[in-house]
Amino acid sequence: MTALLSRTGARVERLPLARYTTLGVGGEAEVWTVQDHAQLLEAMEAPYRILGGGSNLVIADQGVPERVIRLAGQFAATDLTPDPHLSTSDQIVTGWVGGGVPLPGLLRKLQRLGLGNLEGTVGIPAQLGGAIWMNAGTRYGETFDGLHTLEIVTPEGARQVTPDELPWTYRSSGIPRNHIVTRARLNLRPSTPETVLDRMQAADVARKGQPKNRTPGCAFKNPTLEDGQKVSAGLLIDRAGLKGMQAGQARIAPEHGNFIVNLGGATATDVHALLQLIRERVPVPLELEYELWP
Ligand SMILES: Cc1cc2nc3c(=O)[nH]c(=O)nc-3n(C[C@H](O)[C@H](O)[C@H](O)COP(=O)(O)OP(=O)(O)OC[C@H]3O[C@@H](n4cnc5c(N)ncnc54)[C@H](O)[C@@H]3O)c2cc1C
Repeated sequence: MTALLSRTGARVERLPLARYTTLGVGGEAEVWTVQDHAQLLEAMEAPYRILGGGSNLVIADQGVPERVIRLAGQFAATDLTPDPHLSTSDQIVTGWVGGGVPLPGLLRKLQRLGLGNLEGTVGIPAQLGGAIWMNAGTRYGETFDGLHTLEIVTPEGARQVTPDELPWTYRSSGIPRNHIVTRARLNLRPSTPETVLDRMQAADVARKGQPKNRTPGCAFKNPTLEDGQKVSAGLLIDRAGLKGMQAGQARIAPEHGNFIVNLGGATATDVHALLQLIRERVPVPLELEYELWP
């Protein structure tokens, strides 16, 4: 289908969602690419979903019935200029960075400027808005370590909040689903490019054993056993002898049991078959880490 322009100028087209996910799976939807607040508010006039970097999603082969919103234009712009009123010698508050900005590129820019606080999120293939919504992170740091102010848009309009106004916790911002994080001002620590790089490399080492194929990251959360002990979901999947098992073109990664990878041409049905197999064979209840659409 050729792209149409909406009343306010948003680009509207039917597209396969597979191309917007790290797994490379997902059928079609009506995709609204929005550049500014007027276009975003128009897109939100009917049932919608907001798509970030697609790095935590398994989207059904038949796609989704709702509009899928993608942030572009002013929501994908980066202004790292320090705010002279809020910045001090040990704290830099930046201008607005769009929710649609890819996190890896943002971290590279911050590293070159010698600005720390977000380096613990290295290796997460999210957009800034998706990383904020999930409070994505690693044991070296999380997204909320580097935020000053957020802009959140709902069908009622835009509002600004500070992190301490949100009930954020481990891997959650507390922001309700479909409240869209359009942009954020970052709260950063002045350092040197070398120090930030060292910290990024330390955080990145933990990823050495992860598979290189297309994947939506870890499949299951690490469960807590009855005795209160946390155990690695990957280890449980490995112990159940499931590494390397394949359904269609999806495979449980031989390198790490908690990753399902797309060998090329996998479908959501293939991925669901492996998730089901894992749940049947692992003797501990497992909670899904990624999100299923619909
Ligand atoms: C190789 C790999 C490694 C990973 N490693 C980690 C890790 O170390 N730590 C970690 O926490 N996660 C990790 N992940 C998972 C994933 O990157 C995170 O969950 C990330 O926060 C998802 O962001 P996204 O922009 O890709 O969102 P998407 O996958 O596009 O969407 C996920 C959810 O966020 C919502 N969302 C997206 N954008 C916005 C927005 N602007 N406003 C409001 N809601 C929004 C979506 O509607 C959806 O509900 C990894 C994934 C992969 C593929």
